[in-house]
Amino acid sequence: MNVGITIPAVPRDAALAYAALGIKVFRVRRNKTPYANCPRCDKQSVLYVKHRPEDCQCGVPTCHGFWAATTDPDLIHRWWTEEPDANIGAPCKANGWAVLDIDPRNGGYRSLCRLEERVGVLPGTVMQITGGDGLHMLYLSPGFDLPGEPFPGIDFKHNGYILLAPSVHSSGYRYQWSGDGRFYQPEAAWPAALLPRKEKRAAPTPAPRRVASHPFGAAPAGQRPGGGKLWSVADLVQHVMDSYEGNRNSSLYFAACRAHELAEQGLINLGEAEQALLAAGDAVGLTDSEARNSFDSAATRPADKRRAA
Ligand SMILES: [Zn+2]
Ligand SMILES: [Zn+2]
Repeated sequence: MNVGITIPAVPRDAALAYAALGIKVFRVRRNKTPYANCPRCDKQSVLYVKHRPEDCQCGVPTCHGFWAATTDPDLIHRWWTEEPDANIGAPCKANGWAVLDIDPRNGGYRSLCRLEERVGVLPGTVMQITGGDGLHMLYLSPGFDLPGEPFPGIDFKHNGYILLAPSVHSSGYRYQWSGDGRFYQPEAAWPAALLPRKEKRAAPTPAPRRVASHPFGAAPAGQRPGGGKLWSVADLVQHVMDSYEGNRNSSLYFAACRAHELAEQGLINLGEAEQALLAAGDAVGLTDSEARNSFDSAATRPADKRRAA
């Protein structure tokens, strides 16, 4: 039976309420900066012991970002007592969810209309209104990975995480569950029409074009496409945190390119951006050298190379 629950307005109580339903949660800073790992898990530390985040046995409950998500009420109580205003993150895959994330700033609703014209109206499901007027549609995980950003302004979140109501969006508004505001456990399967081609039995639809239609592809330096809003370090960190198995490196590279551009214009501090982006790379499971390479190669990306010889 899925009667739905009213989510308390106090973040700690809300996190405990989700956990009581079996939903794993973790703390997310308002500015999205990941929490520091302990020295054994910190790739910058001389004490670092090589391991995968999902295999971590260090015992420190905040290491590795969303890998630390838990249903343990004592730990949750402690986290939100330490930081009462922390947002509530929930990893999608670990909770059995795949989330269709619509970002209006990048034309997500227009993409959704086009998508539904092509594949039919998507099955109704639990929806969350993000504080930025975006929409999360929560479906059951199909059990395998999904392409990250198949359409402009639409993400398939599976390896990543979402914030849960009453978290506060960067716009200052709170996330909220649509309809009567109560939270219902998702029960609808991920739409068959949106399965990756190789997983689909039906006639395949044309593969999504990612080059020209990538939501960030045509953005001028330091601007969001369409919006003209400057990227902040927190935006860049979020871009990396939202990345997926297959595009973590390119997401970090993209964010690093923007960071270098903004720093060149004196709009952000490069050292601060570097630290935040490497930490974000770590949080999404990149190795130290992968993250370092992506960041450094952004400094010497082809468009900027001045031919010396
Ligand atoms: Zn640790
Ligand atoms: Zn660890």
